[in-house]
Amino acid sequence: METKTFNPPKRILLGPGPSNVHPRVLEAMARPTIGHLDPAFVELMEEIKSLLRYTFETENEITFPVSGPGSVGMETCLVNLVEPGMKVAVCVNGVFGGRIKEIVERCGAQPIVVEADWGSAIDKQKFEDILKSNIDVKLTAFVHAETSTGAQSNIKELTEISHKYNCLAIADTVTSLGGIPVKVDEWNLDAVYSGSQKCLSCPPGLSPVTFNERTLHAIKNRKTRVQSWFMDINLIISYWGSSSRRSYHHTAPINALYGLHEALLLLKEEGLVNSWKRHKLNSEKLISGLKDLGLNTFVKEEDRLPELITVKIPDGVDDLKVRNFLLEKHNIEIGAGLGSLSGKIWRIGLMGYSSNEENISRCLAGLREALEKFKA
Ligand SMILES: *Cc1c(COP(=O)(O)O)cnc(C)c1O
Repeated sequence: METKTFNPPKRILLGPGPSNVHPRVLEAMARPTIGHLDPAFVELMEEIKSLLRYTFETENEITFPVSGPGSVGMETCLVNLVEPGMKVAVCVNGVFGGRIKEIVERCGAQPIVVEADWGSAIDKQKFEDILKSNIDVKLTAFVHAETSTGAQSNIKELTEISHKYNCLAIADTVTSLGGIPVKVDEWNLDAVYSGSQKCLSCPPGLSPVTFNERTLHAIKNRKTRVQSWFMDINLIISYWGSSSRRSYHHTAPINALYGLHEALLLLKEEGLVNSWKRHKLNSEKLISGLKDLGLNTFVKEEDRLPELITVKIPDGVDDLKVRNFLLEKHNIEIGAGLGSLSGKIWRIGLMGYSSNEENISRCLAGLREALEKFKA
């Protein structure tokens, strides 16, 4: 086999993640690697923590990026808070809620599932009824932005209800952070995780997390040891905690962290509120253009995410042919439907650096051409 240096094609990433990476982030990642305990790197870590506090709108001391993709952030929250034999209320309205449920089971706990249709938000009354009738549930988990369907749930309300029933709440903000408001302190969120490659315009591989005092208290008072060595927060904070005495836990992904730092800096320069506005405005532009092409959205307006728009595939249109055409002819990637939505919807992401007017017009022009070509 002949092997050579890989030069990726230039793609416009309009799927469910990763999104396009800002050139400043790529440049930052190409800078020379230094030691993970170098004083200069320790300073960078403090800046990353401070920028993450800005992004999550929190004062939480324990706010840092876990080394690993969003799924590792998900597991970090779960393995530190779930103990064998516990009951955990898990909201499932798509793929990622389903993944939380599976991790809860693998932790030896029992998930109590609060279900909603794929494409709908979690119903707060249904959630409250389940907590009311399961007084032994002490932990809940839900997804803010369900990337598999394009629907958002109200995590402020779900957290309030969790606290009313004496539960800690875990929130997945992988696709929401940077795209729509995630107000950790104002909403009293307990344990929160996100991802670098959705609305933060960064490559995949890092998962920002933030834990409040209540969460840390619960972790300290566990009866059993955290089952994962790598994700045990008690051990990780020997590296990410205080800057005065930092010791080796694992070798941090140095260059990936240069990238995240630059991406968070970009977000701060734009301003969180402006970023939310840009995502909303661009989503409205795309949806109005899709309507002109006779395409309808899958999620009803009040539950719809601006950064991930799901579109019903019209009868007789070949899903795969359209997506292949967009990729091969226009270098545009859009996402397919997952599970029961496979062949029924497309998932068009306008996340982070990908959320701009030029991408919208290219996507609409490509879709117009594809629909004419592959109409039944
Ligand atoms: C993408 C995503 C994840 C998983 O992130 P990975 O980086 O793919 O591991 C988790 N939750 C949601 C809502 C996501 O969109």
